[in-house]
Amino acid sequence: MTSILNENKELFDKITLYCGNVYRRRLIKDLEDLITVYSIVQVNFDDNLRVPIVTVIADCNVIKITLHKSFPFKCHSSIELNGEPYSKILIYTSGERKAALKELKGIDCLCCESYICESNWKIQLRLRDIVDEVLKNIKINIELDTYIRNKHNNNDKINENVDANKKRKIH
Ligand SMILES: [Zn+2]
Repeated sequence: MTSILNENKELFDKITLYCGNVYRRRLIKDLEDLITVYSIVQVNFDDNLRVPIVTVIADCNVIKITLHKSFPFKCHSSIELNGEPYSKILIYTSGERKAALKELKGIDCLCCESYICESNWKIQLRLRDIVDEVLKNIKINIELDTYIRNKHNNNDKINENVDANKKRKIH
C-alpha cells in the first residue's frame, strides 16, 4: 500500500531525494496495484545504486526487482528469483529443453518474450506484470521438467522392450 512508503519516512525521503517526486508517485501507484494481488511486498533502498528494490514473496518464491534509475521508462536493472538471476529460468543451454519449450508452448525462447528484454517493456506496464510473468515462467519450467522426465521414462520403457525383443530373438 501507499503505507509501505508513507510509514517509512526515511525510505520515502530517500526515494524523493534521489529519484524525484514523479518517480515516487509512480512507484506508490505500482505498489498499491501490486499489493492487491501479492500481499507480501517489501521495499528497500540500494544506497549504492540509489534506486529502490522491491521484493515480493509469492508461492514460496522470493522475487527481487532492483528498479531502474529511469523507471518507469525502463523498468529494472535486475530481477532475482530466489537469490539467483531470473534469466536462469529463461535461457536454456540444453537443446532438449529448447525443443520441449517449442513443442509444449510454441515458444522459441522465453527470454525474448520476457520483460528482462528492455524492448518488451512499455511504460503502461506495472510491477505486477513482472511478478505475474516470473510466476508464469516458473510454472512453464515445472511443466518442462515433467515433460522431459516423462519422455525419458517412456524412452527407457521403449528401450527395455527393444532389449527384451532382442533377447527373445537371440534365444
Ligand atoms: Zn531470447
